[in-house]
Amino acid sequence: MPYVDVILPLALDKLYTYSVTDDQAGILRPGMRIAVPFKRSKLYTALVHSLHEDAPQGYEARPIDQVLDKEPIVFEAHLAFWQWIASYYMCTLGDVMRTALPGAFMLESETVILPSVKEEANEAELTDNQFLILEALQNNSALKVGDIQRILERQRVLPVLQSMMEEGLIQMKEKIQERYRPKWVKYIRVLPDYQTDEGLAAVLEQLSRAEKQKTLLMHYFQLAGKLNDWISSSELIKSSGISAAIRKSLLDKGIFEEKKVREDRLNTELQAEKISDINLNSQQSQALADTEDQLYSGKVVLLQGVTASGKTEIYVKLAQKALIKGEQVLYMVPEIALTAQLITRLQQHFGDSITVYHSRYSVHERVETWNNVLKESPKTKVILGTRSSLFLPFGKLGLIIVDEEHDPSYKQFDPAPRYHGRDAAVVLAKSLGSQIVLGSATPSVTSYNNHSTGKYGYAEIPDRYKEILMPQIHLVDLKEQHRKKIIQGHFSVPLLEAIRETLANKEQVILFQNRRGYSPIVECTSCGHIPQCQNCDVSLTYHQYRGELRCHYCGYHETLEVGCAACGNQSLDTKGLGTEQVETELGTLLPDARVMRMDYDTTRGKHSYSKIITAFERRDIDILVGTQMVTKGLDFRHVNLVGIMNADTLLNFPDYRSHERGYQLLMQVAGRAGRTKKQGQVIIQTYQPVHPVLKQVLHGDYKAMFDRQMKEREQFRYPPSIRIIRIEFKHKEYQRVQEGSSWFARSLRQEFSSNVLGPESPLISRLRNQYIKQLLIKIPLEVSMAQTKNSIKRIQRSFNAISQYRSIRVIYHADHI
Ligand code: ADP
Ligand code: ZN
Repeated sequence: MPYVDVILPLALDKLYTYSVTDDQAGILRPGMRIAVPFKRSKLYTALVHSLHEDAPQGYEARPIDQVLDKEPIVFEAHLAFWQWIASYYMCTLGDVMRTALPGAFMLESETVILPSVKEEANEAELTDNQFLILEALQNNSALKVGDIQRILERQRVLPVLQSMMEEGLIQMKEKIQERYRPKWVKYIRVLPDYQTDEGLAAVLEQLSRAEKQKTLLMHYFQLAGKLNDWISSSELIKSSGISAAIRKSLLDKGIFEEKKVREDRLNTELQAEKISDINLNSQQSQALADTEDQLYSGKVVLLQGVTASGKTEIYVKLAQKALIKGEQVLYMVPEIALTAQLITRLQQHFGDSITVYHSRYSVHERVETWNNVLKESPKTKVILGTRSSLFLPFGKLGLIIVDEEHDPSYKQFDPAPRYHGRDAAVVLAKSLGSQIVLGSATPSVTSYNNHSTGKYGYAEIPDRYKEILMPQIHLVDLKEQHRKKIIQGHFSVPLLEAIRETLANKEQVILFQNRRGYSPIVECTSCGHIPQCQNCDVSLTYHQYRGELRCHYCGYHETLEVGCAACGNQSLDTKGLGTEQVETELGTLLPDARVMRMDYDTTRGKHSYSKIITAFERRDIDILVGTQMVTKGLDFRHVNLVGIMNADTLLNFPDYRSHERGYQLLMQVAGRAGRTKKQGQVIIQTYQPVHPVLKQVLHGDYKAMFDRQMKEREQFRYPPSIRIIRIEFKHKEYQRVQEGSSWFARSLRQEFSSNVLGPESPLISRLRNQYIKQLLIKIPLEVSMAQTKNSIKRIQRSFNAISQYRSIRVIYHADHI
């Protein structure tokens, strides 16, 4: 009798076996979906892993419910990649499946179905089943798959729901909130009918007594570059100086028509002209040639080029060559925000052939992209995406680009699989035979080490494009500023002067402070009490604007009382600096400057992120104050000064990577200054002006940072000189997590002796009412990782067999890099 082993989208340690009929066995292949009963009579979507003739041991195989696909939606090479992720990052295949596939591919009995937000369906085109479902949704607004089985009086409803989802007739409720909000821009044009001479004459006649409408219409013709051109609606209003009400009248009369276009699809929808090819300068051509040589010899290539040196142009050239060969290209960036920035630029080269993909896109869009990649549609020749795009079903992936490869956002922290997008990309490239380039101005120590040991290839662009010099960097000693009593608030004399000068030259300023809120600590001047979060082991941050104390980890907040909660003393002191306070101080010091803040607090609204960026680009803002959000990839033309309010918090963070990260972050913020016209300026305020990392930043000396880091890491045994697995234990009772983690540590020590460190409380030892302990296992390079992981898993099985430990969550961070 034939059987299938399937992956269920659940955290199960093994595959489950079901029986299939001979007919089913004839059509099934690995990577196809089937519906199976699991846990009593619940239905789940499962993925076929393999077919065989062996009955399972220990249980009776149940028959599957039905086959859902005609063709595999995941290729076998990708299934092997899933397997690698699961074993390397110590999680289950079900965890990988949940991250890899769009949610809409995994319908189950408990899935909640909602009506679509799109326009009404055309009833005449619906099938009976579709009609019944939509009708039921009108009355209920949300139904579970189980309800739909009752409504249709049949068991097998997943294929109907699947196709309705793909047509956009229904949607499924997602557990993850859609944090990503695409920005919509309104475009307007005169209806083509009125663009002929007769049409225009008629419409002018019609508007003979509506002067303003006529003026607005004529304004459209001035702005429109060619016939039938769509132009920005807000720009039309702004440049004409005529009110939006007039525009509305023209829309109501059917003379104008309007459409809303998603910003990241602007160029495709408005058919922007492609730009002609870019000519590389000699450094760039050399870097391209070096890169290609090494790619052809099968190496991973690390491309290091200072900020604004033209790395993006090199990626474009490489991608173009892959497309000529009929191959697909994956262009990875660490954060969603960066896709929005890059897409316009890339569309100028790739037009309609490029699609953006990341986890915050709607169900419908993710399914659409998945299917397009699967059938090698021209729209998805190039995918621009975040780490989750690694899982798309590429059949002919020729090239992977990992941009900003040093960025810690490539690592997925929660939930499992806790994988690193860059490292997984290297493995994927190897298994698919694709070329892969890792690019950065400030490579990770790990990748650079892979280059210096000869494992990776290397290419370099040493200077900025157009010979613009790297910005001048100055350090300011805050201690001295305080001693001389010349500091104003948190602004040193040199920083304040530089800001004034920059503003006088009509240029812009970015100020960076890596903390949001007003100040991270409020302290009673009498008893020293510091308000703490109720759920986490952290002090509450003061947010002056809301008059609140807030926890940045769990969201707990309370109103700031006038007196101390412990002793009643009326005077409280704030310690430490947040972005809000920087903004407030600027208001006093430079009352005429237009200041805007960009941090988590000001970018939660629908379009706030792009609003701030656009306002800054249009120079409606003089000074942008922000957290590390302002450091990444942004390309502003008129920023000439970057100020770092306090470099010390970055460098004193207790983590073996803090110097590496501090260097990367400071160089990246510095890289925002003087990108296009003249040399920019960077001022770093610090209490430790002799700190070695600051000296490296001052000289832009990456190699010095790298060498020193390697020396320290060899001495203190940190990656890349060894590997580290970090294990976290979480439970709401302190005692239990303490005992459980100690038990685990003792068992590990029997095998790994002194290579086991801990259990220790991490820096933040309680989060959301869960106490945390952690263990580190240091693994020398010559010891097998796979064997180590097997031993750890074995210990965990014994651990789970102890009843009082079973409720402790054990979380693995394999590869703590
Ligand atoms: P990076 O990716 O290294 O930060 P970019 O590729 O963004 O650098 O280049 C910085 C700026 O210089 C961009 O505006 C880019 O279009 C421009 N640029 C770089 N190389 C060239 C070139 N060869 N010809 C024309 N413009 C270039
Ligand atoms: Zn909290």
